[in-house]
Amino acid sequence: MLLDLSTDAVSLTRALVDIESVSRDEQAIADACEEALRALPHLDVVRRGHSLVAHTNLGRGERVVIAGHLDTVPLNANLPSRLDEETGLLHGLGTCDMKGGDAVILRLAATVPEPVRDVTYVLYEAEEIEEAANGLRMLAEVDPGLLEADFAVLMEPSNGGVEAGCQGTLRVEVRTTGTRAHSARSWKGVNAVHAAAEVLNRLAAYEPRRPEIDGLTYHEGLNAVAIRGGVAGNVVPDECVVEVNHRFAPDRSAAEAEAWVREFFTGFDVTLTDLAPGALPGLDRPAAREFVEAVGGHVAPKFGWTDVARFSALGVPAVNYGPGDPLLAHTQGEHVPVAQITACEDRLREWLTGGTASTGSTASTDGRDVS
Ligand SMILES: [Zn+2]
Repeated sequence: MLLDLSTDAVSLTRALVDIESVSRDEQAIADACEEALRALPHLDVVRRGHSLVAHTNLGRGERVVIAGHLDTVPLNANLPSRLDEETGLLHGLGTCDMKGGDAVILRLAATVPEPVRDVTYVLYEAEEIEEAANGLRMLAEVDPGLLEADFAVLMEPSNGGVEAGCQGTLRVEVRTTGTRAHSARSWKGVNAVHAAAEVLNRLAAYEPRRPEIDGLTYHEGLNAVAIRGGVAGNVVPDECVVEVNHRFAPDRSAAEAEAWVREFFTGFDVTLTDLAPGALPGLDRPAAREFVEAVGGHVAPKFGWTDVARFSALGVPAVNYGPGDPLLAHTQGEHVPVAQITACEDRLREWLTGGTASTGSTASTDGRDVS
């Protein structure tokens, strides 16, 4: 299938949506994108698996990454794409998450041969499945030089608003122990479920931190997300486990957040089961400042964890910015307002050309999140 990058971004979005690309089945879409990118003489194209990296080499003082994933969640009777001219909505799997963003990437790659800052366009595989398969992770591990940049834009749906940085996440198991006994002679035992009451009391009394970083207010969270314990209906239980999820602002490192949680549960047995660092917004860099100006100035903090943090781990500050409502991602009825696709393209073109390309109107984000 041949992709025509001279067509408008909405038609290109449709063309991408109509190439099925459920995770682990990205060969066809990656082939199509690769062929289209290789036809552009001003780009160097590298392929790793079904991920593509295309960069300009103009020797500019700054380099920026613009990235999107090519895969979608599984079909749900929502292909092929369907454009509703009346409402201006494009329906179908991947319209929102995130082939509108991918189309913008391809359009910019094709139509901005001499950007004012060097650009690395990244289209990668396997974002919607387990961490180990993630194409961006693979690039970061195998070929981190390909992702070197001063700033990155991840075109995940954000209603055309800027979401900067992201909060980190960790999970712990807080375990209480006791002594089993027949419940008819319960005074012979020690009830571990009762002991968990203190764990829950501390959680109920928790006051979230709301630190301000680069002008953005983050909002932490500490929640019991599961609890298990009990042996049988006539046994005093000897173990209870409360699973706790902590979402922490990016001014704390992963290690600091872990230490804070351990301290919070002083006196209890705490086991760490999951840990992913957050990402600082990094809005003080020139490329970031000019980006925010070009796209309208409104920035919201990102509360969920996204691949933005992967760039951050490489020392590249990153934001989410893309067409589509993140709350529609992964739903059967996912769609995207075509005006948002066009507006994102216009504004990014303006940023990359330093010019005054026309701007469309976009809804601002309120920082909602689906992660
Ligand atoms: Zn996505």
